[in-house]
Amino acid sequence: MVDLQSQYQNIKDVVDTSIQEVLNSSAYINGPYVKEFQADLEKYLGIKHVIPCANGTDALQIAMMGLGLEQGDEVITADFTFAATVEVIGLLKLTPVLVDVEPDTFNMDIEALKKAITPKTKAIVPVHLFGQCANMEAILAIAKEHNLFVIEDNAQAIGADYTFSNGTKKKAGTMGNVGTTSFFPSKNLGCYGDGGAIFTNDDELAHTLRGMVNHGMYKRYYHDVVGVNSRLDSVQAAVLKAKLPLLDTYCDARRKAAMHYTEAFSTNSNIITPAISVFSTHVFHQYTLRITNGKRDELHQHLLDNNIPNAIYYPVPLHAQKAYQDERYNESDFTITNQLIDEVISLPMHTELDEEQLSFIAKTINDFIG
Ligand SMILES: *Cc1c(COP(=O)(O)O)cnc(C)c1O
Repeated sequence: MVDLQSQYQNIKDVVDTSIQEVLNSSAYINGPYVKEFQADLEKYLGIKHVIPCANGTDALQIAMMGLGLEQGDEVITADFTFAATVEVIGLLKLTPVLVDVEPDTFNMDIEALKKAITPKTKAIVPVHLFGQCANMEAILAIAKEHNLFVIEDNAQAIGADYTFSNGTKKKAGTMGNVGTTSFFPSKNLGCYGDGGAIFTNDDELAHTLRGMVNHGMYKRYYHDVVGVNSRLDSVQAAVLKAKLPLLDTYCDARRKAAMHYTEAFSTNSNIITPAISVFSTHVFHQYTLRITNGKRDELHQHLLDNNIPNAIYYPVPLHAQKAYQDERYNESDFTITNQLIDEVISLPMHTELDEEQLSFIAKTINDFIG
C-alpha cells in the first residue's frame, strides 16, 4: 500500500545526518530537534501552538483531557473511521455518539450531526477522512450555536487546505478549538516509529496540554494536573524536521497518482471514484473506490492474486464493533456506513508510484469489473 523504502532512499542523506546528530548529542527526549520541528510545523500550519506527543491516539485523548471533558459528556464523531477516535472517548468514560457519513466524501453528515445533539453534548470530533476536510464551516456554525468544542482528528489530512465561503483559507487541523494528528509511518507526514501532535491557537489550553503530555508537570516534579507520559522523541523529530519541507511535494505526488486512477476509471460504470469537495483540497491519504456491482470482495481477492496490495478501510462500522456496540444505536441511522463497508476498497497510494504501476493497477481492475 505504501513504499516507505523508496521514499527513504530519496531523503537518506539528510535523515541519516539528523539521526546521527541526535545519537551524538544523547538528547533523546525533548532535544533541540523536537523544539525545531515544533516551530517549523507551527509556521507551516499557521497556528500558534503545536504540542508534540507520542502518537495520534494520545493526541486525541490529551486534547479531550485538556478541554476538561468529564464522565457522561457526549462526544459526537463519525461512525466510519479508524477506531482510535472512539477508543479515547471510551477510555475517558465520555459517551460516544456515532453519526452517519456522506456517501460521496465519507465525512460526517451534517444533518446526522444536528440530529445527534442533546443537552449533554459537549464536543464534536470531525475526522478528515482519507485526506480531505469534513464540512468545517457547517460544523463550526453548529458548535457555536450549541456552545460545543470542536476537536479535529487530522491524522489523515495534514497539508490539506480548507476554503471558507468568505474566501478565508486555513490548514486542516487548525479550524477547531484543537486539532490532532499522527506521524505513524504510513501517514502523509510519517516518522520512523510512533509520533503525534496537538494544535491550538488557545494560549491557555496550549499551556495545559504541554504539562499534560509530561506527567502533568509545569515545573519539574511538581504535578499540577493528572497527566500522561506522551512525548515525541528526538529521533522522530529529526526525521519529521527533514520531511516537513517535502510535505507539499508529497501531497502533490499523491494527488497526481489519484488523478491518474480517477481518469482510468472515469468510464467504468461499476466504480465510483473519490469525490473532491468544493471547500477542501484532497491530500489522498487513501485513494478509496466504491465498487457498486457487488463484486468488491472478489476484486479484493483478484488484486491479491495479481500481487496488487489493496485494503478495506473500514470493514466494520464503529457502531457494530464488539467493543463499541450500544443499545442506543439504531441500524436505520447508519444506512450510508452500512452500505460503504460493502463497497469500499483502497488502492496503493504513496509518493513513489509511477505511471507504469498506476496503469497496471487500473487496467487489472477495469479488466476484472469493466
Ligand atoms: C492513524 C489514525 C489515528 C491514530 O494515530 P496513531 O498515531 O496510530 O495513534 C487516529 N485517527 C485516525 C483517523 C487515524 O487515521
